[in-house]
Amino acid sequence: MFETANAGSLPKPSWLAETGKLWPEWKASGADLERAKADATLLWLKVQEDAGLDIVGDGEQSRQHFVHGFLARVEGIDFEHKVKMGIRNNRYDAMVPQVVGPLRLGGRVHAVEARLARAHTAKKLKFTLPGPMTIVDTVADRFYGDAKQGRIKMAFAFAELLNQEALALEADGVDIIQFDEPAFNVYMADAAEWGIAALERAAQGLQCTTAVHICYGYGIPANVDWKGTLGSEWRQYEQVFPALAKSSIDQVSLECIHSRVPPDLMRLLAGKEVMVGVIDVASDAIETPEEIAETIGRALQFVPKERLIACTNCGLAPMRREVAEAKLAALGRGAALARERFA
Ligand SMILES: [Zn+2]
Repeated sequence: MFETANAGSLPKPSWLAETGKLWPEWKASGADLERAKADATLLWLKVQEDAGLDIVGDGEQSRQHFVHGFLARVEGIDFEHKVKMGIRNNRYDAMVPQVVGPLRLGGRVHAVEARLARAHTAKKLKFTLPGPMTIVDTVADRFYGDAKQGRIKMAFAFAELLNQEALALEADGVDIIQFDEPAFNVYMADAAEWGIAALERAAQGLQCTTAVHICYGYGIPANVDWKGTLGSEWRQYEQVFPALAKSSIDQVSLECIHSRVPPDLMRLLAGKEVMVGVIDVASDAIETPEEIAETIGRALQFVPKERLIACTNCGLAPMRREVAEAKLAALGRGAALARERFA
C-alpha cells in the first residue's frame, strides 16, 4: 500500500553538469562524460533505494533536458540552429531546435542508462519520456506547417518514434514507462481533443505499466509567477481527466501538496492508479512525515488506497542536491507513517 516514486528528474551533481539550471551545460565530454552520467545514475539509484522508494528511476542524469534529451537522436531536427521561442503558451522563452524534415529515429535513445539502471536495482524501474504534445510545444516547426493540422501531424509523428523507444525500453526490463505532458495543463481543449490520442499512440502495444505526468512545471520563477495568475482554484485537470480516465494509460501523476488543485478532481480518474504529489518542488522546505501523511489522507477521500502512489509534484532537477536528497528521504518516511495510519 502507498508505493512511493519520484516524478522523474533529479539534480545533476556539480561534477556532471551545471547546477540549478533547466538546460545545464555538461562538465565533461566524450568517454569522461559517459562515465560521469553513469556514475550519477548509480548514485541516485542508491539514494532512492536508501530513501525507501518502491519505484526508482535514472533521475534523467543522461539527458540535458527532459524533452531535448529524446530529440537528440531524432533525424529531421536541426540542433545546430536553435531559435528562441515562447513555450507553454509563452510562459517562458527557451532556445529550441527546429524540425526541418521528416522525423525518424536514428537509433536507440536511452538504452545505456535504462540497462545500467536495470542491472543495478531490483526495485520497480520507471523510465520517463516526453509526451508528444509537450515535444511539439518545445520545438520550432519549419516542416509540418503552423496550422493546427500540422501540429497534430507532427505530434503523431513524434508519437510513433516515442513508441519505438518505449517498446525497446520495455524489452530492456523497464517496469513503468511514463510520458511527461505538462502541456496538457496549458492546452486543455487540445489535450482532450487529440493530445491523449497521441499519447496512446506513443504507448501502443506496451505490456508494461504506462503512466502520464501532468504538472504545473518545475519550481522555477516563471512557473511560480504563472501559478500566481491561475486564481484560487486550479481546475485545468478537470478538462483533461475525463478523457484520460477513458484512455489506456494506467497511472496519472498530478500535483497536490501546496497547490490549489481541488483534491476532488482526483475523482475524475476512476479506475486509474494516481500518483499524488506529496512533495513540493517549488520550495526548499523539507516536508514532515506528518504533512505527507495528511496529504495522502486528503487524497484518500477521492482515490482508493490500493490505487494511491505517493510521489513528488514534479521532477526535482533544478533543486540543490542536498534538498532533493532530503525530500526523497521525507517521502519515504511520510509514506511509512501513512501506511501505519491508514492500513
Ligand atoms: Zn512535472
